[in-house]
This record gives sequence, C-alpha cells and structure tokens, in this order.
Amino acid sequence: MTIELLIAPAATGKTATCIDQIRAAQKENPLAQVWVLVPNQQTAAQFRARLAESGGGMGVRIGFFHHFYQEILEENGRFVPVISQALSHRLIQETVREVSTSGDLTHYDAIKDKLGFFSVLKDSFAELRSALVSPEAFLDYTRGSTPARHELAILYERFLAHLGTLGWIDSEGQVWLAIEALENNSATASHVSLVVVDGFTAFTAAQRRFLKLLGQQADEMIITLTGEPESARMVHRRAQKVLQELDADLSPKIMTVNHPALLGTPNLHMEKYVLNPEAVEECELQEPIMLEARSQSEEAREALRWIKQLHVRQSIPLNRCAIYTADLNTYQPLLRAAADEFGLNLRFSQRDPLSESPAILSVLNLLTLPLENYPTRTLLNALHSPYFQFGLENQDVENLEKVCRQAIIVTGKDQWDAAWKMLARKRQDYAEALDEERYRPDLTANVDLLALKQRLERFWDLFARIESPRSQARWVEWLETLLSNMSFYDLISTERDRAACSSLGEALRALVVSEKVVGEREVDYGQFITDLQSALNSVNLEEPTEARKNAVFIGKLVEARGSRYQAVALLGFSEGLFPIVENPDPFLDEDLRKDLGLEPRLQREQASTFYQAFTRANTHLLITRPYLSEDGEAWEPSPYWQAAKALFTGQAIIKIQSFEGRPQAEAASPQELLFWGVQQRQLIYAEYDELQQRWQNLANAHRILDARRAKHAEGVYEGDLFEQASSLAQRYSAGHSWSASRLEAYGNCPFLFFVNSALNLEISKPLEPGLDPAQVGSLYHRILELVYSESMINHTDPLEILDSVAARVFESAPEMFGFRPSALWEVEKSQRLEKLRKSLQALEAERGAWQPIAFEKKFGIQGTPHLELKLSGGKIRLHGVIDRVDRNPNGEIRVIDYKTGSSHLGRPDLQKGLRLQLPIYGMAAQDALQLGEVVDGFYWKINDACASSLQLSNFESEHGKGIEKAYQVTKDYISKYVARIQEGSFMPEPHNTVCPSYCPASQWCWRYRAGYKNE
Ligand code: SF4
Repeated sequence: MTIELLIAPAATGKTATCIDQIRAAQKENPLAQVWVLVPNQQTAAQFRARLAESGGGMGVRIGFFHHFYQEILEENGRFVPVISQALSHRLIQETVREVSTSGDLTHYDAIKDKLGFFSVLKDSFAELRSALVSPEAFLDYTRGSTPARHELAILYERFLAHLGTLGWIDSEGQVWLAIEALENNSATASHVSLVVVDGFTAFTAAQRRFLKLLGQQADEMIITLTGEPESARMVHRRAQKVLQELDADLSPKIMTVNHPALLGTPNLHMEKYVLNPEAVEECELQEPIMLEARSQSEEAREALRWIKQLHVRQSIPLNRCAIYTADLNTYQPLLRAAADEFGLNLRFSQRDPLSESPAILSVLNLLTLPLENYPTRTLLNALHSPYFQFGLENQDVENLEKVCRQAIIVTGKDQWDAAWKMLARKRQDYAEALDEERYRPDLTANVDLLALKQRLERFWDLFARIESPRSQARWVEWLETLLSNMSFYDLISTERDRAACSSLGEALRALVVSEKVVGEREVDYGQFITDLQSALNSVNLEEPTEARKNAVFIGKLVEARGSRYQAVALLGFSEGLFPIVENPDPFLDEDLRKDLGLEPRLQREQASTFYQAFTRANTHLLITRPYLSEDGEAWEPSPYWQAAKALFTGQAIIKIQSFEGRPQAEAASPQELLFWGVQQRQLIYAEYDELQQRWQNLANAHRILDARRAKHAEGVYEGDLFEQASSLAQRYSAGHSWSASRLEAYGNCPFLFFVNSALNLEISKPLEPGLDPAQVGSLYHRILELVYSESMINHTDPLEILDSVAARVFESAPEMFGFRPSALWEVEKSQRLEKLRKSLQALEAERGAWQPIAFEKKFGIQGTPHLELKLSGGKIRLHGVIDRVDRNPNGEIRVIDYKTGSSHLGRPDLQKGLRLQLPIYGMAAQDALQLGEVVDGFYWKINDACASSLQLSNFESEHGKGIEKAYQVTKDYISKYVARIQEGSFMPEPHNTVCPSYCPASQWCWRYRAGYKNE
C-alpha cells in the first residue's frame, strides 16, 4: 500500500537498495510474492544474476510490463490471446481496405496500398493505446478537424473493433484489460508483497495507471529513477518530467540514496560535470576515451577492436560489453561485417526484417517472376538458387543460359516458346568463323534442345494455374504445395534459414487467420503476392541461438537504460547523427500529441539519453565519431562530443588517421594484421605458421602488382608465357588454320588475342531485343550477296531488285540470323533498306567496267583450299570468306570486303599491321582460289556508302608502293605475329591509344585505356 520513488544518479545503488528490500521482505515472509518489472532482457538477466549473488530469488518474478498484465488477467480468469505482429499488420491492412471501400478514406487514399503506411498506422495505434486514448475520445477530438486526423481516428476505431470481433488483443491493448481487471477487483494483486520497478527512464500514461492500481493493491511498491530531484542540469530534465508525472499520478514517497557513484574515473567525471552549467574541473587522462575515425565503417571497426582488446587482455566477457548508437540502421551492417572479420558474436536489439533473409528473398524473387513476365536474368537466378530443386541439373541451367544468349530471350514465356522453334530450325552455320563482322558462336551446338525444353516445362507448370483468383487460404495452400514440390524445406540447412522458415510460417498463418476475421475474399495472384510481402515485412527474423551466446550487445542509444556493462562504446557523435534531427510526426502532430497526452516528437530530452548511455559503463567507456563524411568533407562533432571533450586534458582523444604507424599488436584479425604488415613493409608476427603462408602470398601479390604498375608491360605477370612456349607452338603449329581477324586481334593487342582466342573468353552483354552488330553485318552481307548474284544471273540492275530481295531477307531474317525483332523492327527495316540503297547506288557508280563474278567465296573452309604462305618461320595456312570478287574486261581481279563499321580502314592500319584482311583475301583469290590476277581490293563501308582509303592498288609504305608491297607487309606481320604467339608473348599493349570495347578483358585489364568509339 506504500509507493516509494527512489531517485538518485546513475550507479549509486538504486538496484542494490531494491535487492535489499526484496531480501528484507523475504526474511519477514519467506513465501512473500515479489514482482520485479524491468524494461528489457538485459536488465532482467542482470537483475536475476545480482539477486542470485545476494542469496537467491525464490518467489521473485522478474519480467516486463506485459508479463504482469497477463498475470493479472489470468488471476481474474481471463485468457485473451495476444495478436502476433504479422496478424496485426494484416488486420491493419484489411481495415484500411475496408475503410477505403466504404468511401471514408480520401486524404490517405493515395497511399492506402503502401507498406510504409501500414507500419506508420501500427506505430500510431500503439502510441494511442499506450496513452489510454479510447477510439471514441479520438473520434470526438477529430470531429470537425482535418480529414487527415479524422480518417486516422476512423481507422483506429475500426481496427479496435476488428480486434474485439476476433476476441484477441494487441500487445499495447493488454494494459487496458489489466487496468480494467484491477479496477473491477481490488484483491487481484493483494497477494503481492513487493513490486519493484527498476531501470525505466519514462512511463506511458497506461503504465502509470497500471502502477497506481497495482501499488494500491500490493503491500509495497518501489520505483527507481535515475536523476537528481532538484537538479537543473540538462541531463536530468527528463527525470524531472517523469518525477512530476509520477508524483501527480501515484503520489509516491520520494526517497534518494547518498552513495557515491560506482563508475570509472572518466564517466564519473562526466556524470558530475557534463553539460553542467556550473564551473567544471578538468580531469587529466592517460588513456583515450574518445576516438575519431575517418568514416563510420572505421568507427565500427575501432569500437569492436577496443572491445576485443578488453576481452583478450583483461578477460572482460563479451556479454559484459555493449555498443550503443543513435543510428543503428547505418551501423548495424558495418558492425556485423567487422565482427565477422574479428570473430566476435554480436547480439542486436533490432532484428532484421524477415523479408531480408536470403531464403525468403529467394522465395519472393521466385514468386514475383510471373508478375514481371519472367525477366531472363531473374529467372536464371531463381533456377540457380540453392533453395529450390526444379529437377534441373547445374549443366541444364548453364545450357538454358546459352539458349537465352543464342536466341536473345529477354523476357516472357512466349519468347522461350519461340526460341525453341527458332533454334530447332536455325539454318546459318554459326560455327563458321566467317569474319569478325558476322561471327556469332553457336552456343547451343552440343545441347539436346528437345530434352532441355521438356525439363524446363516442370518450371512453367509451377505457375500454370495462377490465373484464377482464390481466397488467401487457398493461395497459402498453393504456396505451401509449391515450396514442398521444390524441396524448399528439405534444402534448408542453416539455423538462420530454419528460423526464417518458422517466421514464414507465422506470416502465412497471419494471412489465413486474417481472412477468418474479415471474411473470405477472392484475390488475384498479384494481390496475394502484395499481401504476402506485406506480411513478411511485419515479421522479424529470429537471431540464431549460437549467435546470441557470449555476444556483445548492440542497441540504440534510447535503449541504454537499466542494464550495466563493464565496457560501453557509444558511436556516431558527429553532427546530425546524435543528437538526432527531430522532425514532427506527419500523422500525429505535436498539437494532437499535447491534447491527447502522447509523448512529444520534438524537443525530446536527448541530453538525458546521452547521460543514460555513458553511465551504463562501470569501468570502460569509449565515445567515437566519424570525422569525414562520405564525400570526404570534414564532419563536425556533435555538441555532446564537445561537451565531453571540454572535461578532459591529456590523452583523452585519439584520432585515427592512418594505419602506418599503428602497433601491429592492435590488429583485431589476421587480415588486418597482414594489411598493416604490408603497409608497414614488415610483419612482426611472421613466425606464426598460419600467417607465414599468407604473408608469402601477399609478397607474391606485391610482385605481381609492381609488375602491373610498371610503365612497360613485361615479365611473367604481364602476359609473357614463355614457359608455355612448347605447348603454344604445338597448338599454333603449321597445321593450324588462321583467320585474318585472329591475326588482326594480335596486332591490336597481344593480350586481347590471348584472352579471346587462347582462353576463349567472350564478353557477356545484357540481353536486349533486336539485332546485335554481328547480325546486322550478316543481314547486309546476305542482301548484297543475293542482289548481285541474282542481278548477274538475270542480267538486271541491282538497284531494281534491291527492294524485293531485301523484303525476302527481312522476312526470314529473325529465323535465319537468330534474333528477336524489337517493337521497332518495321521502322528499322526501312531505315536499313534506305542505307543499303544509298550504298548500292554509290557502289554501282564506282563500278565502271568491273563485273561481279563471285560472292561469299570461301577458302580454307568446307573443303576449299587454304591460302598457304611460305614465310621465314615456316608454312602458314589461312581461311576466310571473300564477300565479293569483280573482274574487269582485261580479266584482272579485285576483291571487296563489306564493312558496317567505318573505323580503322585506312592505309596506316595496314602499315601498322592492324588490318591484314584485304591483302590476305587478295592473295587467297589469286593463289588459293585461282580466280585470276588480283590488281586491286578495298573495304566497302556500307553505312558510309564509300570505299575505304586503304586500297591494295595504291598502297604505299616506306619500302615501296603497290599491291605486292601490301602483300609483303602483310606477310611480314603474319610471320612476326605467329612467331610471337608460338613463343608465348602476350603482353597487354593496345596499338591504338584506346582499347576496343569488344575486348573481353576490358572489364578487368589493368592496362585498359578507355575512349573507344563503337561505329
Ligand atoms: S583491355 Fe586493352 S590492354 Fe587490356 S587486353 Fe584489352 S586491348 Fe589489351
């Protein structure tokens, strides 16, 4: 029947006083019932431990408010189930839908489907419940007010009505029932001898009301509060406010304790003087307690390094250490990454949403595939996922990827259906390396397409019947069947994934139960997935038990209360991080909060939060801040940092600027030690076996990097494969058949040749509908070949038959060249025809007496004779396809090669050995195909409608002029290139000042030079 309020500064023995009270109550009556209310798990565990140390806690129940609400209700014979987070979320969603359907939602109608809106409503309803605001009072208050407020009141009222219909209660609503029970039965808690309320920094109106009624029924109640009764310091302002509220509602007897605070020197000094307007003494420190790091990521590492040092050197258990920060969302992943590297367990107060679990993300990605029309990349990712078994082997999925690339499947099942047909009928011999203009490898040459297609059918069947709408329960049933057919649950192997599956079950149950509450309603597949995503967002992922063992606690600054640790690090003391920037709540504005008794959102007492946080440390304290922002600008310190800094002299602050002079003994992981060792050019702990091998590897890496950073490329790390010379000489021996484009690739950059031709690496580009450059080249070549061959046979003007020939080729082009026409194909056809017309007109205008006599003349392919060159290093065999051969009335020959691009077709390109195709074709026409004496040749630039400046007849170099000189230069280059290839000389040296974009190494080559223009 007595309520005492024990108010005193931090660490002065309030909890010890409570434990003494418990011991005294139990001494008087060994069966005394004692209830201890604490704010969080950590405080509960610590209270339990201290009680045990003091002699035992038989008959003492330690729990949170909601445990005792439940106790009160059970005492009164009421068993009201508490709604789960997922079901609460679903119920809010259904409430919004219902209110919208009834036409009562206008202001919020535009955001009625947003997941964020449901979360905001959930928080707002919880706040209203905690402030004991009844739906009727809220409706009354908002009548005649803004639509925003009134609609919120309607939603609140309907949500609570739904809960009532369900016969369940939300966690914040439990207190209402407990209060009602205490009011209706004054003997409910009369068996309780002592109630201890320890570790809280504030109480909601509902909690104060509950405590008042409980205090009236129990024999004794003691509430502790950290602060000073008459203090004017900023750090105690919140305690003053709470004191007034408790005084007004509970009229407690105010007491205090006069013990000195049991804190380490630095935080004891801060406890006395920080933000104290009165004169302060400075305290000299020999050890830093404040640390400035360059970034938030380094700050997280430094804090964990500090904790690991205390753990290793001073044997402080990890579960006696904590880190608090105002911005946990930012620091959580940074701390997790550093802790993984340092081998530390962390336990976060804030759990990750279920929807971020890899297993659940995979399920969501799979389920959204039909809604997005099966985008190829996402589809292939799903097929590769280790969480599903689709009846496809790894090789099958790789073959499916090849099918996509070959048939350019961008999205949709219809494209897959068309692709199978197209690939079955494809007529072009892809395997033929015609020239670089037209080369498309046949990726599916050795794939059993029919069998693969049949195996993929099983995947399509999964989504075969999603068209018809059905109830949520039926959709959930469908999903469960789908997951079990894909062995999803059988493939789960980690504790984290198992926890995710159990939370998934909770979310699915919420969907089914919510339907029972609001009535069955059929929804389509898209709506089901939206509802499922929403339910998954509302459920958090359980932390695996293993991760919780002997772990450092990580929480938000506002959660720093009640519990105490031996070591505490406070992160993020820079401007804008802490104190946090306060913004008004757009849903529950400040006036409404004031009128209805809700906590304000502005002018929260953040100095009190700071005080609570740094006084959580018994002996070791570290306050950190980043001093550079992401863009490298200086980041100003927080005013609280400045206030703490002003209290100390000596070595209080350390600024981490680089690791170069850092003692290696401070490294927190082998990686870090090695990294510092490399920076400092010496590893102090090199005698450890584990480090020796890694240090050796790093020394090798260092040599490689040095070689790659050298001005000139040379040596074994720079493409010099002389050790492989014998196998290369064998591979590229006299029997090898060369194409002009391969030799030109070597001329452009030896490493390009090595990557592309020796290693067979290719660039994998994102799939896009329409033609790729090789297909455009093939299309143009085919039309020009048919136009000239038919005009020759029928003695017609090539220009006259261009349209009809082009129409025929266009018609069969998608199938013949294996591409998917884009939506612009019709427009594209007329543009390409126009280009061809102009080109043909120009080609005809320059033809003079030349008559085309042969087209697509192969040499060295399909049984045709090779061009064989007898060079200084031995015999070289070449193959290729000559686009066109003309003859003049004298029986002389010229060769023409069509090009869609127009760059690098000049005389200097042959002089430098970058373009060898034309002279090779000239020699082939004359010597291999015996078509006659070749006197000229040129490239025809189709898009530019003109011949190249490189012409065989007018070639000249420093050694002379004419076609024979062109041949000689070409042979010299071929001889040189082949010899170097056989020697294994592949140094990355682009002959042009820039690297071609088609170079497969351009993504990672350390000698890459940007600036290439595709033409
Ligand atoms: S990126 Fe440039 S230097 Fe590197 S291999 Fe390709 S062309 Fe050669």
